[in-house]
Parts: sequence; C-alpha cells; structure tokens
Amino acid sequence: MGMAYALGIPRGFKYVRASTVDEALKLLNEYGGDAKVLAGGMSLMPMLKLRMTEVKYLIDILGINDLRYVKVEGNYLRIGALVTHNDIAMNKLINDNAKVLSESAWHIADIQVRNLGTIGGSLAHADPAANYYPALIALDAEVMIRGGIGTERTVKVSELYKGPYTTDLKPNELITEVRIPLSGFRGAFMNSLGGGVVRHSRVLS
Ligand SMILES: Cc1cc2nc3c(=O)[nH]c(=O)nc-3n(C[C@H](O)[C@H](O)[C@H](O)COP(=O)(O)OP(=O)(O)OC[C@H]3O[C@@H](n4cnc5c(N)ncnc54)[C@H](O)[C@@H]3O)c2cc1C
Repeated sequence: MGMAYALGIPRGFKYVRASTVDEALKLLNEYGGDAKVLAGGMSLMPMLKLRMTEVKYLIDILGINDLRYVKVEGNYLRIGALVTHNDIAMNKLINDNAKVLSESAWHIADIQVRNLGTIGGSLAHADPAANYYPALIALDAEVMIRGGIGTERTVKVSELYKGPYTTDLKPNELITEVRIPLSGFRGAFMNSLGGGVVRHSRVLS
C-alpha cells in the first residue's frame, strides 16, 4: 500500500462500545495501554487517520448517558464528561453560573465540531490551543477521575495539564465530571490563535 493511500486510513483496531462507566473502566483495565476511549472523536479520529497515534482497542464511550448532565449540587456546578461544546455554550445553568465557560465553548471551531466534541475529550486531549483550560483554571475547576473500579480522585484543572497533549491521566483512567465551585466569579473569554497555539487567551473579571 502506497504512503499516499495509507494516510487517511487508520491502522486496524478492535472497536468496542461501552454503555456504562464501569464497563468502560473494566475494558480499560483489561486492555491496559493498548486502548483509548473514543468520545466525540473530533481529535482522536484525525490523529488515527493521520497515523499520529494508533490503538489496538478503541472503546466508544459516547453512548454512556450517565456522563451527560449539568446540575448544581452542593456548592458546585457539575458537568458530565460527555456534555458537548454546543450544550456548554447554550445550557442555562452554565450560562448563569459560569458564563466564561459558555463563552469559551462558543469560540470552538464550528457547529459540527461543537455538536460532537465533549468537555472531557478536550481536557484529556490537552491541545495547547484548547479553549477550556484557561476558562476552567480561572473558575478554579476540578475534574473527577475514575480508574480501577471503585476508585475515584479529584484533580484541579490547573494540575491536570502537564504540557502540550500531556495530562496527569493514567492510561486506565477516565474523566467523569468537571466540577466548578459556585464562587460568583464573573468574566469574559477571548483568545487569538497563531501558529497553532493560543497566543493570547484572556479571562477578564
Ligand atoms: C476542525 C477542528 C477544529 C477545532 N477547533 C478547536 C478550537 O478552536 N478550540 C478547541 O478547544 N478545540 C478545537 N477542536 C478540538 C475539539 O474541541 C475536540 O472536540 C476536543 O479536543 C476533543 O473532544 P472529543 O470529545 O472529540 O474527544 P476525542 O477526539 O474522542 O478524544 C480525544 C482524546 O481524549 C481521550 N478522551 C476522550 N474522552 C475522555 C474521557 N472522558 N476521559 C479520559 N480520556 C478521554 C481520548 O482517548 C483521546 O485521547 C477542533 C477540532 C476540529 C476537528
């Protein structure tokens, strides 16, 4: 197969669908570092097609309905990992309590990408040009992470990001929730891109 033909077609992998968080965790633990989860696929699919990454097992988590919610509970705004960019841009609870996050979602790509891309996927992918990191760090947000069955940990978004495309996540871990303290923080989001990185990203309060 010629190179030009190979590019654009991912290497072969086994596709598995998980319908609950426990099922996804079980598969991740079983397959170890040979597996990745697929959420909206907006970053992972292009990387697989360009062969910038490869997997033996792809665990599709998009059907896990338990990871799609936005609610206020305790002193937190809680957003499930599979909530899409469009929902974040338009959700009233998020608009009322974390407007800077809604604004950062409006600035992501186009309607197609916003329809499928998820907040958990964006944080896990850790593109240095990603919109959510500056907004969530300003909001002092944290993520809930699950690894082995029954284990859960919380990490500040400011600690999750370790560098371009690098996070504190282990291969068997799943981001399940983004948690924002209800601090009354008010701000505005704007950014400007240049050369594939965020040159200026400002959260003004
Ligand atoms: C044309 C285009 C333009 C874009 N422009 C922007 C932009 O301007 N700003 C911006 O911020 N983003 C942009 N993006 C990226 C977009 O926001 C993606 O949706 C996002 O980066 C990844 O989310 P996803 O749900 O599609 O994740 P996927 O592509 O499915 O997965 C991405 C990575 O995260 C992992 N992952 C996914 N979910 C989880 C989880 N819950 N727990 C642990 N790991 C997980 C996957 O294994 C994979 O490694 C753009 C994308 C495209 C295609």
